[in-house]
Amino acid sequence: MERIRGGWVNVPEHLKCKTDLKEMGLKPTGEAKAEVWNGHIWVKLYNISETAPCKPATEKQLAAVEKARTAQLAARTCSRCEGIISRKERLLQGICDYCRESLFIEEISKNAFKLLRNWVDNKSKYLILDTEATGLDYDSEIVDIAVIDLDENVLFESLVKPVCPIPEEATAIHGITNEMVENAPSWPEVWVHIQKILSVDKTILTYNADYDFQMIRSNCERHNQSYTLLKNFCVMQTYAEYVGSYSRYHRDFTWISLMDAAYDQDIRMLGIGSHRAKADCIVCARLIHRVAKRGVEKELAKKCTVLSFKKDGVSAR
Ligand SMILES: [Zn+2]
Repeated sequence: MERIRGGWVNVPEHLKCKTDLKEMGLKPTGEAKAEVWNGHIWVKLYNISETAPCKPATEKQLAAVEKARTAQLAARTCSRCEGIISRKERLLQGICDYCRESLFIEEISKNAFKLLRNWVDNKSKYLILDTEATGLDYDSEIVDIAVIDLDENVLFESLVKPVCPIPEEATAIHGITNEMVENAPSWPEVWVHIQKILSVDKTILTYNADYDFQMIRSNCERHNQSYTLLKNFCVMQTYAEYVGSYSRYHRDFTWISLMDAAYDQDIRMLGIGSHRAKADCIVCARLIHRVAKRGVEKELAKKCTVLSFKKDGVSAR
């Protein structure tokens, strides 16, 4: 049998596949004359002159076809979004990929909120820490460090004199100049104080914990100071999970800068400045409180909606 290459465009007018013939109310009476590759299988083609009209389908046949079509469609319909999927194998327990991912994000977001709430409910167990440094590399030096509690009480704040001078690019970000750190204590002096505050029964909250702890570790190593990793949570990761900033492309949560998070949550920044360790600690504390409060308000709003539904005699879904 002749095989027509290059797809449907190369199929002559007198050759038709069964589907095309059926649409024309015809069925083949002769053998297939050729085949065409549809990108998936070889489709048989029949000469249109060797066809006969189809008998009209009976009521019963039509009903059976309709029933089968409905069942096939139902098997490919997501029970959550009611979207129709190309193949039923892609539904898992009746739910499409997209919905499964959405449910997963919702679950993570709920857990992140619980975590944030827990920090506020047990605030005596938590401290917030932030650092500013001579650069973004892990071998940069800390030039500013602060520790506060969740009520914004400043437990420690100090500039730190680095071994190497502060580059201009870093000064442009946090505003700390070489003159400002001229008479500041060195890292070993500061670390002695910090260690006393960050006692073992405290958990440290940091916006971008990986960076700050790596920074502390490398500064300790540089000065031969002992360092043990403290219990900590990354507020940046938790916040990204809470707002559900999930990238389907990267299959991970996209981080949001502290300033963007503060802006999104309408955090009052007046008078606290920014990109200094203490200021960033305060913004972080306010962000945690705001999210914890917002979540409770959201829950209350949901309950009120259900109640008003009931009051109006409308059944809540
Ligand atoms: Zn779905």
